[in-house]
Amino acid sequence: MANVVVIGAGLGGLASGVRLLQRGHCVTLLEKEPRVGGYAVSFRRQKFTFDLALHVVPAGGPGQEFAAMIETLGLSDSVRFIRLRQGFRVHLGDSLFQMPGDYDTLLESLTLEFPAEEKGIRLFRHDLEKYATVYARLFDHRVSGYRSIPPFIPKIPAFLQHSMLPTRTYLQRFFHDERLMAILFQPAVFMGIPMRDFPTVNFMMMFFLLMKNGMYTIAGGGQKLTDCLRERFLQLGGTLLTNTAAKRIIIERKKAVAVRVSDGRQLPCDAIIGGNNLPDMVNNLIGQASFTAGYRRNLETLKPSISVVALNLGLDCSPKKLGMDCHIAMVFPDADIDGCFDKQTSRIEPLGFSITAPGNSDPECIAQGGHTLSLIGGTAPEMWLAVDEAQYHREKERISRELLAMAAARYPGLREHIVISDLATPRTMARYTGNPLGAIMGLNCTAGTHRHILKAAKMPVTNVLMGSAWTNRLGGFMQSVKSGILAAERIQ
Ligand SMILES: Cc1cc2nc3c(=O)[nH]c(=O)nc-3n(C[C@H](O)[C@H](O)[C@H](O)COP(=O)(O)OP(=O)(O)OC[C@H]3O[C@@H](n4cnc5c(N)ncnc54)[C@H](O)[C@@H]3O)c2cc1C
Repeated sequence: MANVVVIGAGLGGLASGVRLLQRGHCVTLLEKEPRVGGYAVSFRRQKFTFDLALHVVPAGGPGQEFAAMIETLGLSDSVRFIRLRQGFRVHLGDSLFQMPGDYDTLLESLTLEFPAEEKGIRLFRHDLEKYATVYARLFDHRVSGYRSIPPFIPKIPAFLQHSMLPTRTYLQRFFHDERLMAILFQPAVFMGIPMRDFPTVNFMMMFFLLMKNGMYTIAGGGQKLTDCLRERFLQLGGTLLTNTAAKRIIIERKKAVAVRVSDGRQLPCDAIIGGNNLPDMVNNLIGQASFTAGYRRNLETLKPSISVVALNLGLDCSPKKLGMDCHIAMVFPDADIDGCFDKQTSRIEPLGFSITAPGNSDPECIAQGGHTLSLIGGTAPEMWLAVDEAQYHREKERISRELLAMAAARYPGLREHIVISDLATPRTMARYTGNPLGAIMGLNCTAGTHRHILKAAKMPVTNVLMGSAWTNRLGGFMQSVKSGILAAERIQ
């Protein structure tokens, strides 16, 4: 039995804490904030409850990977996934396409919408199924090397090529129509990476996971998952220290022996799992001196993922009354997704954004927190971090107005039904989680960076492991939980 300190109680830290306790270890979980959950939390304004981060998750169906992790953690009685059968509504300028959440129906609808691309759609389907089924087993933590490696061996050259190949080049092998390619890219737009930089392997996985296996949400929102993990952690006898930041990892002979925390105490340990971000772990907690120049150079090549603004709206009527009758809609100025992302990286104003109406799929959300809408758009985080307090508030007002105007252009009447609005910015997200630039998905995984991320996740201090979005090549709820579980299972 090891004495393990877990740093940070986001989804990764909480999941690793639970898994460690299940395996008989003794666990102290440190969280710098008064509450746990990281991004996976809700907050209240007047009579409304807003869920910050949960919009869509993959693999929540019976026997699928996320559902299996929840079962492993002993939470299948309390965490319930809801299948989103409607898929995405996609606005590209004035054109509207309802992207069904069922794979066969989706490909049929696309063939009807784009008859000239019928052959390409058939070839795309064949290619995707040929590779994605094999790659999915490799990414699935339940499939042992013994079972996943043999079918993977003949696909290794293709895998290496697909991890270097930009999605845009891949899609152009099958299609000519920009609008069709923009629609197919929707399951991957959450990562905020242009098609020309997004690795084909990641696109295949996102498309396969969300469109073939189905899109899900969690009943009660991200906060529900956090609450269940926290309760289970305490039930299994873990020690949770909130308002307690890890300040330094004490290393002796290349092994971590203790963690110094914000109140000055030193907590001795046999191993550490980092549920926090990787740059903080390397630069501040362990310290650069413990890393080779090669490791540091590799980490410097990697950038934090997308940062966003989240405009949360409390309404006096159901979003359905305003024409928003699905779970999630994606809004872009036109089919040029790359152009939109390029502009967003250097400006504060989002151009493309998603609109989620959680109550349309989960009545629990309305019962707990009224009718809400959440608008999420990409933004340049440096600008939010650079402005002074007065300017910050002015920019918040302005961006709220602009986002609202863009949403109201698609859903007229929206403005008249808003009771309250609240904008969360990269500054808010960085402050609460400590994540550089308020990045939401860990490291940016672009074409060719897979191996760099894997390398960065490997700590030279052997009894320190990372268990958060920052070690994963996809990011998000499921990947953070997976990262936490995998780290916990490596502790002897
Ligand atoms: C607006 C928004 C929308 C999103 N939409 C989706 C979505 O639809 N689907 C999806 O799958 N994902 C989504 N995500 C991403 C997802 O929420 C995150 O990838 C995931 O929750 C990250 O979990 P994590 O375990 O890495 O930790 P984080 O949530 O980053 O939490 C890290 C925790 O560690 C703590 N900490 C940091 N440093 C220290 C320290 N030194 N000592 C002690 N504690 C420390 C922090 O306070 C925090 O609680 C969204 C995120 C946002 C913000």
